[in-house]
Amino acid sequence: MGDRFTARGEQLEDYLDPVLVVCPRCARCAHITRRAPAGAGPFAPRRLTCTYCAYSDEWSASQIKRGWHEARDDFFAQPLWLQTPCCGETLWAYNAPHLAFLDGYLSANLRERARSETSGWANRSIASRLPRWIIAAKHRDEVTRGLVRLRGRLTEAGAAGP
Ligand SMILES: [Zn+2]
Repeated sequence: MGDRFTARGEQLEDYLDPVLVVCPRCARCAHITRRAPAGAGPFAPRRLTCTYCAYSDEWSASQIKRGWHEARDDFFAQPLWLQTPCCGETLWAYNAPHLAFLDGYLSANLRERARSETSGWANRSIASRLPRWIIAAKHRDEVTRGLVRLRGRLTEAGAAGP
C-alpha cells in the first residue's frame, strides 16, 4: 500500500454489520448482525449470536445510545471485542473492515479527505469524527501499536473459531 490514503466519507453506520462483541455468557467473540435487509438503517432489529456457546439475544427498539468513550455496542451494550487501552484512552473498532479503515487512515503519511459525491464534506464521516488523541502526531507510535494489538485480537477470534 502506498503512503496516500483518502477517506471517502465512510460513516460508522457503514460498519455496524456485524459488530464483534464479548459474549455475555462465555466471554468469547460473538456477532451482532442486522436482521432486516441492508439499508434498513441504524434502528433495524439486531441479533446477538455466539457460535461458541450458542448464546443468542434479540434487540429491537427505537433508540440507541452511543457513548464515544465507552467501547460498547449500541444495542446490547456489550463490550466490543476489538478494544485496547491506548494513550490513556480506548482504541476500538466494530469489526475487521472498520479496523482496516482505521489502519489505512492512520498509517498513511498523507491524510486527506475526499469530497463524497453524495454527501459532500460529510461531517458525520469517521475521518472527520476521529478523536483528536487518535490523530495526534505525538501518539502515532502508540496508536500504531494499539492497532497491532487489535489485529491480534481479530486473529484470536478467527483462529479459535469453530
Ligand atoms: Zn458465548
